[in-house]
Amino acid sequence: MKRDGQLISLWQDMPEHISRHMPAQADVVVVGGGITGISTALRLQREGKKCVILEAQNIGFGTTGGTTAHLNTLLDTPYYTIKDNFGQNNADLVFTLVSKALNLIEKNVIGYEIDCSFEWKDAYLFAHDKKQNNELDKIVESARLSGVNIDFCEQIPVPAVFEKAARLSGQAQIHATKYLYGIAEAFERMGGSIIQNCRVTDVIHEQDWTIVHASKGKIKTDHVVYATHTPPGVNVLHFEVAPYRSYVLAVTLADNNYPDALVYDLDEPYHYYRTQEVDGKKYLIFGGEDHKTGHLENTEYCFTKLESYLRKQYAIDEVAFKWSSQYFEPADGLPYIGHLPGNPSNVWVATGFGGNGMIYGTLTSCILTDLICKGESAHAQLFSPSRFKPVAGFSNIIKEGADAAAMLIGNKFAFEKIEGAVELACNEAKLVRFEGHSVGLYKNEEGKLFAVNPACPHISCNVCWNGAEKTWDCPCHGSRFSFTGELMTAPARKDLEVIERTEIKQK
Ligand SMILES: Cc1cc2nc3c(=O)[nH]c(=O)nc-3n(C[C@H](O)[C@H](O)[C@H](O)COP(=O)(O)OP(=O)(O)OC[C@H]3O[C@@H](n4cnc5c(N)ncnc54)[C@H](O)[C@@H]3O)c2cc1C
Repeated sequence: MKRDGQLISLWQDMPEHISRHMPAQADVVVVGGGITGISTALRLQREGKKCVILEAQNIGFGTTGGTTAHLNTLLDTPYYTIKDNFGQNNADLVFTLVSKALNLIEKNVIGYEIDCSFEWKDAYLFAHDKKQNNELDKIVESARLSGVNIDFCEQIPVPAVFEKAARLSGQAQIHATKYLYGIAEAFERMGGSIIQNCRVTDVIHEQDWTIVHASKGKIKTDHVVYATHTPPGVNVLHFEVAPYRSYVLAVTLADNNYPDALVYDLDEPYHYYRTQEVDGKKYLIFGGEDHKTGHLENTEYCFTKLESYLRKQYAIDEVAFKWSSQYFEPADGLPYIGHLPGNPSNVWVATGFGGNGMIYGTLTSCILTDLICKGESAHAQLFSPSRFKPVAGFSNIIKEGADAAAMLIGNKFAFEKIEGAVELACNEAKLVRFEGHSVGLYKNEEGKLFAVNPACPHISCNVCWNGAEKTWDCPCHGSRFSFTGELMTAPARKDLEVIERTEIKQK
């Protein structure tokens, strides 16, 4: 299974999922084959809607293939923030809804007989200084008020120094892609179709129909769901979510001292721990070192920091896997699930999940199924993507690929000239100015040079190098590209312009 980066996650050892034949018509086209897209298509199909999932690469290619799959009702956004922004009743409602989503995952595991190591776990949260102790107090008090079964405790199941800690029950974990494949197979058994390597390029609305254009053909449909983690193209929602990267190690331990719980500290950014057994072998999964996408070039350093931090606590036998992935932080603490602003009423979206997308992606399946099948959802307002005020004249200010033609480097200079002028070591990348233009350069292990125009085709921000995953990442809205310029992550819809060796290719 491929993922949107060079590094291999713990979840990628999965067989190729075989695509179905692309139908000409569907009740609902779901764009994106991660937890959100597949959960939503499964629920809609069960309710009698004929659904098709179109996935640009392979199922699990996006963040679902790079997650850590903690299933929490204690969310990244503390309940006191939800209360401050949405009121106490809504904070209570969020707890009820995420609890239901977690139960739905268990129900799917049992009902569809998915072998994905679903396990209920306790979770621990610990603080190691006065400021963190105060924060922990606030988190515990507000979580309790919203119904979370959380209490202070004297011990934690990891060998970290702490002053204060809390424990809560009713959390869980799964093997991320085994669950994903399980619900994908259940969806197909009900008659749903998954088409992979099929990128949606446009959605055209005609009188009575919507036509989804994709790289493998077009489909007439009644509804379109963008389950692409962030919607492709330009949308006001891109100004309400911020892309972040998080880093993960899966290590084996010399002394078998694996924690039997989900554990979190209160550092900023926080660290997260849990254990997963795969094919009879245990791994301690440890993550953190989050930062805004495109704000750090030496991303390898995040792994170094994680490992040295963990080595102070554990006898690491082997760092078996290390990977990073991207998530989208919402502006006000809750995700955006519902009608996609600026589009006809049959276009839907779910984004801004932060670090709780396994739960919120599952919750999306309930909310969007109600909206599509019944025309309403009791929770539509709380999660409405239109709950902020769109920027006045937004569509005039920003157009996709604004001045893209002007940004193209075209055949303004020959690749060979750059090659002669810029010195790069093998496996190094650089943004350089050359004859008045920015150029993104990467030299691979064999000494082969790759050159791209770093202007992101989304809205022309310059991309930055991500050394660990060997991708060009856009700091503005999280579009990501391989070192050859190939589009990996929305919202961009095109590849980076590639500067070719003998001729200049314009896309
Ligand atoms: C390191 C890390 C750890 C995390 N840990 C947890 C955790 O423990 N618990 C938790 O709840 N959440 C966690 N999260 C968050 C969670 O994993 C994500 O929110 C969730 O996986 C997002 O799922 P998704 O289906 O919405 O998006 P994705 O999994 O990103 O899927 C989107 C899919 O859409 C496809 N696509 C994009 N554009 C197009 C197009 N034009 N046409 C067709 N297909 C397209 C992509 O190829 C991709 O496969 C973590 C996130 C990170 C980064």
